[in-house]
Amino acid sequence: MTVTRTFSIIKPDATRRNLTGAIVKMFEDNGLRVVASKRIHMTRAQAEGFYGVHKDRPFFGELVEFMISEPVVVQVLEGEDAMNRNREIMGATNPADAAEGTIRKAHALSIGENTVHGSDSDENAAIEIDFFFNKDEIVG
Ligand code: ADP
Ligand code: MG
Repeated sequence: MTVTRTFSIIKPDATRRNLTGAIVKMFEDNGLRVVASKRIHMTRAQAEGFYGVHKDRPFFGELVEFMISEPVVVQVLEGEDAMNRNREIMGATNPADAAEGTIRKAHALSIGENTVHGSDSDENAAIEIDFFFNKDEIVG
């Protein structure tokens, strides 16, 4: 295994409930390092672009409205096999299916308001990191 990077978003349901630190602690306790972080209020154009892969899904409109409803924290996480490790720490999309000890089991409100985003492949991680960060904002 090698050290890689992945992209994470702490979603509006979490920033609203002041859970940013609690979520970062779960990353850090499970072998991931935050190497870039910023709190932003996503524009509609950013949310629609970022989630473009889901544009034909029935929940797309709801997802975009949710992601622009409150601030989010976008982050780059680094560690051994960071993308898969982050997906493990996050838990299943639907909190009803998420394993004990995962972020979504502990904090998610619903399948939509599910607290965190994480890239689903190394290729998408690189694309998503580029979507929100300049190279000089990432300090490993
Ligand atoms: P994940 O975030 O686990 O990678 P997906 O990529 O399938 O999940 O979906 C992206 C996001 O869209 C989810 O995290 C969730 O916020 C939202 N979403 C997915 N499925 C539904 C659904 N059935 N109803 C409402 N929102 C959904
Ligand atoms: Mg996904």
